[in-house]
Amino acid sequence: MELTPEIRLKAILEGTGAGTWEWHLDTQEVIYNDRWAQLLGYSLEELEPVTFQTWENLCHPNDLLQAREALARYLDGASQKFECVIRMLHKDGDWRYIHTRGTLLTDDQGRDTRWLMGTHLDVTREVVSQHQMEQLSKSLPGIIYTFVLEPDGRYYFSFMSEKTWDFYGVSPEAALRDPDTIFNMVHPEDLAALHESISVSARTMGEWVCEYRVAINDRVNWVRGVSRPEKDPDGTITWHGIITNIDRQKGLELELEQLSITDELTGLYNRRYMLRKLEESVAESERYGDDFSLVSLDIDFFKSINDSYGHPTGDAVLQRFATIIEKRTRKSDIVARTGGEEFIIFMPSTVLDEAEQVAESLRVALEAEEFVSDDGEAFNVTFSAGVVNWSGAGANATSVRDLLSACDQSLYAAKRAGRNRIVVNGVGK
Ligand code: GH3
Ligand code: MG
Ligand code: MG
Repeated sequence: MELTPEIRLKAILEGTGAGTWEWHLDTQEVIYNDRWAQLLGYSLEELEPVTFQTWENLCHPNDLLQAREALARYLDGASQKFECVIRMLHKDGDWRYIHTRGTLLTDDQGRDTRWLMGTHLDVTREVVSQHQMEQLSKSLPGIIYTFVLEPDGRYYFSFMSEKTWDFYGVSPEAALRDPDTIFNMVHPEDLAALHESISVSARTMGEWVCEYRVAINDRVNWVRGVSRPEKDPDGTITWHGIITNIDRQKGLELELEQLSITDELTGLYNRRYMLRKLEESVAESERYGDDFSLVSLDIDFFKSINDSYGHPTGDAVLQRFATIIEKRTRKSDIVARTGGEEFIIFMPSTVLDEAEQVAESLRVALEAEEFVSDDGEAFNVTFSAGVVNWSGAGANATSVRDLLSACDQSLYAAKRAGRNRIVVNGVGK
């Protein structure tokens, strides 16, 4: 069989399932193929006599105008192609979405003839799923998106739902054109971790989960992204995922975290936080050889302050003492109330002498402070303290527990020696 252009064209059209139409603009003569009629459930004979009107009658009245306008734009040369999606009535009574394309036939000299030739394709399934996706994305509490990473490192978003604007202050179209419009909105402190989490997910093909802040003008929001990667044979990785706002949840989480490490009465850190900090610092100090000092303080005869002036006055003493310690220590020092009238000061990168000086200046400051009870009675308060130092792997103490115990030993020594004094490494002055 000879493969004539006609046979080839016919085979191609059958393969695509496209209906064809030809329309003479002057005579209004039209020719449709069988498939054109079949797309709408008819045979061509059933539609006889086929005219231009046949098409118009089957079109949804609300879509006719846009079809006419698209055609006018093409014939005027305002657009390069004639293309639109319109609804047409199927024999079974349903509307089908038909993608119509057309082009002016040109003659041997390259001049346009008055024949417009085109195709019809049923895209109902695509339009319906697109619609479903849009509706779904509207009711979701976040953005759904598709992110693509090519083997050469190029990346882009191939889909972003409408809510992109609410989350990033950027339109979905802008994000599709330039993915960095999205990354630029991420809080600078979180950007490196975000990129790293994407790299890890790409390397391990594990689920991508990341919590980060988005800064739109002065408004900062916490968001959480979750998506699954998919790899093409050519190495391209595609993530389909969702971004949700977790600002409220994160706010509560941070508040709770803050509460769990804060002493309610004084606003200082609590024992739990100090122990955590010490565990971390001991581990770090072993690695980097950095040393730190610890001062453990206990107010003298506090029970009798309570007994003489009442519990509320005792509380006020604790609060005032907390303020004095905070004022006389560095920002990098960590101060915690670790018990009723017991405090610990953690001093990073601080040698024993320095720590002792700070403790001594505190002792003098508290001793000089005048307190007044609810009844107007003036009184003074003192404390005793133990000071120890941790100097990396060579330290005498081998654990946080040993270190705290050494600090307490010094503190007890100060109490035994008469109170209102500082004892360093078990040696009083
Ligand atoms: P020492 O000089 O040996 O340290 O004697 P002290 O009286 O200070 O020590 P002790 O341990 O006998 O008493 C501590 C007191 O601190 C007992 C307790 O009622 C009181 N206390 C603990 N927590 C609070 C608090 O939150 N507020 C007040 N006002 N008192 C507290
Ligand atoms: Mg005590
Ligand atoms: Mg005490």
